[in-house]
Amino acid sequence: RAKALGRARYEVFSIGMRTQIVSRLQLENELRRAIAALSDGTSQEFLVYYQPIISFKTGKIAGFEALIRWQPPGKFISPAEFIPLAEETGLIIPLGEWILKEACLQLKSWQKQFCLESPLSLSVNLSSQQFSQPDLTERVEKILKETKLNGENLKLEITESMAMQDVEKTIASILRLKALKLRFSIDDFGTGYSSLSYLHRFPVDTLKVDRSFVSRMEDSSENLAIVQTVIMLSHKLGMDVTAEGVEKASQMQILRELGCEYGQGYYFAKPLNSEAATALLAEQPQW
Ligand code: C2E
Ligand code: MG
Ligand code: MG
Ligand code: MG
Repeated sequence: RAKALGRARYEVFSIGMRTQIVSRLQLENELRRAIAALSDGTSQEFLVYYQPIISFKTGKIAGFEALIRWQPPGKFISPAEFIPLAEETGLIIPLGEWILKEACLQLKSWQKQFCLESPLSLSVNLSSQQFSQPDLTERVEKILKETKLNGENLKLEITESMAMQDVEKTIASILRLKALKLRFSIDDFGTGYSSLSYLHRFPVDTLKVDRSFVSRMEDSSENLAIVQTVIMLSHKLGMDVTAEGVEKASQMQILRELGCEYGQGYYFAKPLNSEAATALLAEQPQW
């Protein structure tokens, strides 16, 4: 009997495992097919969405963060699910390059369409594999040329854990891209394992305080103190701060009082498709 049970358990386990592996392989194949279709221009499955970043000084839109969306027929797969898979399989390289170019084209078209007091900035997330490409600078330079975009308007987001993988290499890569006038943000700050003693060595412009800190800010004075300290530290190091995940007016109020420069979150707008983001820009909302 024990043997029978053991065997039954083994089979349940193996079927579960098998299902997991098969669905991962299916997703990988689907991703491969969708990315291959990008290069011949037939794919409509990937879309770049744009979430506005608001300047707390002016209350106006200062820029956008590009966020990828993938919608295979009848489905929606979150970036949290397919970005890690794209990263593991190397598919992130062609996908990331497509995102960068698409986003640069969009920004260029906004620059032509709207005459703004201060130029819009565009933030693009870099994956770990992209960031460690030896010829990343050349690839970015090529895209800037092709899209006739000024490097100053482009900001790249790297996470804290990516930056910490190899500190010297990170600094060298950032400096090479900064020669093209690009700016950098450290994304999801506070969720990684970065040692504070390294932070000042990264030549970055902006620190993005992770959403988890912003959402807990009003729960206790300790949580508020964390956000306050991150803002103070950033300013001491000559960086500005973007708060992620601002969902309420009260959060914006507090962040503003703490001297945080920028905010991003559902309170202002969710990530929008190109059309909706253009309509929002035309409205020129002010918070
Ligand atoms: P991230 O770069 O930290 O992007 C912010 C995420 O927070 C986005 O999720 C955005 O939709 C979400 N968000 C913004 N405001 C709020 C808010 O007020 N409340 C809540 N609950 N969420 C908010 P999304 O688009 O699902 O992306 C998740 C992550 O996937 C990104 O985190 C980034 O790490 C990665 N990702 C997305 N697009 C790209 C891309 O084009 N390239 C790369 N390499 N990674 C990407
Ligand atoms: Mg980001
Ligand atoms: Mg982030
Ligand atoms: Mg995040």
